[in-house]
Amino acid sequence: MADFSAAEIEAGRLLFAGAWDFISAAGGLDSVPPMSVPEIAFAGRSNVGKSSLINALTGRRALARTSNTPGRTQQLIFFGGPDRLVLVDMPGYGYAAAAKSKVAAWTDLIHDYLRGRATLARVYVLIDARHGLKDVDATILDTLGKAAVSHEIVLTKCDQVEEAALAARVDEVKAAVRKRPAVFPDLIATSARTGAGIDLLRAAVARLLAERGARSNDIRGHRS
Ligand code: GDP
Repeated sequence: MADFSAAEIEAGRLLFAGAWDFISAAGGLDSVPPMSVPEIAFAGRSNVGKSSLINALTGRRALARTSNTPGRTQQLIFFGGPDRLVLVDMPGYGYAAAAKSKVAAWTDLIHDYLRGRATLARVYVLIDARHGLKDVDATILDTLGKAAVSHEIVLTKCDQVEEAALAARVDEVKAAVRKRPAVFPDLIATSARTGAGIDLLRAAVARLLAERGARSNDIRGHRS
């Protein structure tokens, strides 16, 4: 798993410390906020623990509501933090009860959002540690790969799996995504319940933003 220095862990803590708030909910591209600061997005099957993870990252117990809340399953939800970072809660997918038309609307929204969102630094694809990768996850990984959006796997609910089984699950998921060059090769195992891995995920985001910042400085440097 990813290795982070104490300084990176601290940078991650600082990045997420302070007040996080709801910015807006977008049901279509016309209502997506204009691009400004870097964004990281969270995707996953309904019930994977996405709301719980966002709440754990931000230290706000009820910032993200469960994706089962009626009426908001097709929306992208934007949260703003104290620093220059926006979190995007993508609608949960693979909801068995969803009508075909709803699935199509979901797909359109996601495609529209992913297309040309230059501020989107990475999509974290959440996978339930108890279940591993499912067909529907493979579909979203295909979509992200085609959109050339940087993405990485985060295991959720790791408290529900014993240590040896978790290690086997990590290996299995890593092996499955190795065939997908667009997936970031590290994966982060978390539990919103115990807080395990939350500091690592924050550190990963801090590192990502630092790398992006360095890159854009480079570009500016070369231009001048
Ligand atoms: P979402 O639909 O992906 O937003 O998932 P939620 O965050 O609403 O979580 C779905 C269910 O999983 C809820 O009953 C949560 O209490 C439970 N859950 C979420 N995260 C964890 C976790 O880290 N460990 C355990 N044991 N349960 C979790």
